[in-house]
Amino acid sequence: MQDVLYRPDEKVHDEARQGEAFAPFASDPNQYRKKFYIESYGCQMNFSDSEIVASILQGEGFGATRNVEEADLVLLNTCSIREKAEQTVRHRLMHIKGYKKHRPGMLVGVLGCMAERLKAKFLEEEKLVDLVIGPDAYRTLPELIQEAESGQKGVNVLLSREETYADIAPVRLDTNGVSAFVSIMRGCNNMCSFCVVPFTRGRERSREVHSIVAECQNLFDSGYREVTLLGQNVDSYHWYAGDETVDFAGLLERVALISPLLRVRFSTSHPKDITDAVLHTMARYDNICKYLHLPVQSGNTRVLQLMNRTYTREWYLNKVRRIREIMPGCALSTDVITGFCTETEAEHQDTLNLMREVGYDLAYMFSYSERPGTLAARRFADDIPEDVKQRRLEEIIVIQNENSRQRYQAQIGKVVTVLIENTSKRRADEWTGRSDDNKRVVFAKNETDLKPGSYAQVRITDATQATLRGVLV
Ligand code: SF4
Repeated sequence: MQDVLYRPDEKVHDEARQGEAFAPFASDPNQYRKKFYIESYGCQMNFSDSEIVASILQGEGFGATRNVEEADLVLLNTCSIREKAEQTVRHRLMHIKGYKKHRPGMLVGVLGCMAERLKAKFLEEEKLVDLVIGPDAYRTLPELIQEAESGQKGVNVLLSREETYADIAPVRLDTNGVSAFVSIMRGCNNMCSFCVVPFTRGRERSREVHSIVAECQNLFDSGYREVTLLGQNVDSYHWYAGDETVDFAGLLERVALISPLLRVRFSTSHPKDITDAVLHTMARYDNICKYLHLPVQSGNTRVLQLMNRTYTREWYLNKVRRIREIMPGCALSTDVITGFCTETEAEHQDTLNLMREVGYDLAYMFSYSERPGTLAARRFADDIPEDVKQRRLEEIIVIQNENSRQRYQAQIGKVVTVLIENTSKRRADEWTGRSDDNKRVVFAKNETDLKPGSYAQVRITDATQATLRGVLV
């Protein structure tokens, strides 16, 4: 699970666009009967879910608009992972209520993780919304919209043990035409004690393998050159039917075999589940990116036990060694929580030391925020004062800044393969893209016939903590 990103000079990262408005879109809304506007908050799964919702709405005659004021239907796809994310959505809903006054027929709905948790508040107490739809109930959107149009409230927050939306072809929102998310599973069985996901997204289920490969093949045929396979815990992917059994290593291989020109990424890996088979599959295929997001959460074994992460500090460090044995150049990123219940200064120091030892390329760091209903909220006191949490957070950020600086500086002089995504936002005469190990690379266009979706060989000449600069070779 990735949540809030900290990255020195790029607060918003396309893997965790926390709180970013997400208003589409490629199609012409005027060809549709009605218009919808959608914003997504939180993790990549939410962004991916918004594309499923867009597909369902398109089937009902709704076209997307970037202009909230002209929308007939406004949807916020929400995140419950931290209190701040919930507050952001509430403020946004208050704001949208203002638009509703000028457009009386406008319907407003809340999707995703906050739906189950706060449905009563949204609907009855605060009267902010007309629709509340949980992450497994998107197929019922058409009926719920009809109910809301007739003046009732449309609510469905039931979780499912089967729903994977395997047969729904997502409508790509806000796309660069190069990279796409592909959801391979839903829910999570892990019950990390700080995490609300098992309660808001339900039990883990894996999507039918052929539909995943077909979606990736279609993306490649339409010009996309990178897919990110998404799930809360992708390494526990397991699908079977009759004699056919596919685990995550098998799925990765099938997707990698679509074409050597299709880059394959995935997220997120729970350290306990990533196997040698997955690592060897990554090593075997050049088009599977050598980048792993391996959330550690804490560097201290006692805290890890309280978090119910099911590994120790030593076990995690051995896993990192194994990754580097099999893929010496593999980049690593992580999630870290500071100030978890009862964390001592010595235990915090263990996290700092572990971060120094691993030398992550990137980290998503935040202070502990108690979420109602989680195991930690029920069992432990949130007893670390806010100022201590923040000071500890600042200390891990300092270490990560140094890690990032070193990891990026180490690229200077190397030639890397960059998948071009877009013209740089800062300069029209520069391309921006990503290296195989997920680093942002910027370089001059030089009047070549390269375009988004092309691969370029770039010699790195300069580096900040979050961007590499280079020249075409
Ligand atoms: S329970 Fe653990 S593994 Fe599952 S989504 Fe939450 S943090 Fe990730």
